[in-house]
Amino acid sequence: MKAAILEGAQDARIHEVPEREPGPGQVKVRVEWAGICGSDLALYQYFPVPNEYVHPLFGEHGPHGFGHEFSGRIEAVGDGVTSLAPGDLVAVRPNVWDGTCPACLRGEPNLCAEFGFIGINGGGGGFSESVVVGADAAHPFPEELGAEAGAMVESTSVAWHAAKVSEAGQGDVALVIGGGPIGLGLLLCLRARGVERVIVSEPSPSRRELAAALGADAVDPTSADLAAHVAEATGGAGVDVAFDASGVGQATYDTAFAALRPGGVNVVVAQFHGPVSVDLNSYLMSEKNLVGSFAYTDEDFSEVIAEMAAGRIDPRPLISSRIGLDHLVDAGIEHLLGGGRNTEVKILVSPAL
Ligand SMILES: [Zn+2]
Repeated sequence: MKAAILEGAQDARIHEVPEREPGPGQVKVRVEWAGICGSDLALYQYFPVPNEYVHPLFGEHGPHGFGHEFSGRIEAVGDGVTSLAPGDLVAVRPNVWDGTCPACLRGEPNLCAEFGFIGINGGGGGFSESVVVGADAAHPFPEELGAEAGAMVESTSVAWHAAKVSEAGQGDVALVIGGGPIGLGLLLCLRARGVERVIVSEPSPSRRELAAALGADAVDPTSADLAAHVAEATGGAGVDVAFDASGVGQATYDTAFAALRPGGVNVVVAQFHGPVSVDLNSYLMSEKNLVGSFAYTDEDFSEVIAEMAAGRIDPRPLISSRIGLDHLVDAGIEHLLGGGRNTEVKILVSPAL
């Protein structure tokens, strides 16, 4: 089968590789759609996981298959799998954890010391024709929503988890910095949780237009006075929750901190590529909170599918382009690292196109 393999920095290639077959408790998924994630761009640019590294749970050295946001249909099931059958549409939760460490035992598997991703640490990848995963990772997905929406569950779960971490709810005002897949996913998740006013700060006109169409109070931070906008929206109080989904750095950290009301929560949900300076005294009398949000749990993944099935979250408007697997690098990754970052939100890749 055809599969994208990330060989090194700026080096992803489509190879012909043997298909894997499901062992006991596993299923083979014929991939329909796989999304390109911001973390895929960082993996491609910086290649932080060396090929010699063997993840303890996957037990494979690199180079690995690529792509971790994917949906598809069950093609075959291994021994002992009774919950899924060939033809079923599934959204795959692409994570592994050990299930035995203190974090796992606390119910926080996303904080497991051995947390890993199919498509990053081993196990093949979504940018391929088929992937073998544990049956528990293949979540049945509503046929009427379709495989494209199924490929959006993973990135939406990142946003859902961050929205839960913030504890934002009805009556709160939120600031989301960055209108990419996670920022706009946050907009959808926050609104599903009853947060009516979500200010999205995003310099790209097309992303801002989409944010506004999805119900955001969309602001261009390069031309508008965001602080004045926040003051107007909150009667001078400041926002209850802020999310940095941009990863820009000091400027966006400072903006989020200044926008936040005393006691408010600032959630870091983006990957930053350098340190940010934090004045601890600024937290003392304000009782503001700075918290991280990483990935999601299996429960988050199930909740997102339930929200989609109930019609409370529809991530499909975030899909901006659909490309074939052969064009993953030129029309997908290189495009997003270039001018595409201002026009695209989520690019989906299909091995069938
Ligand atoms: Zn663990």
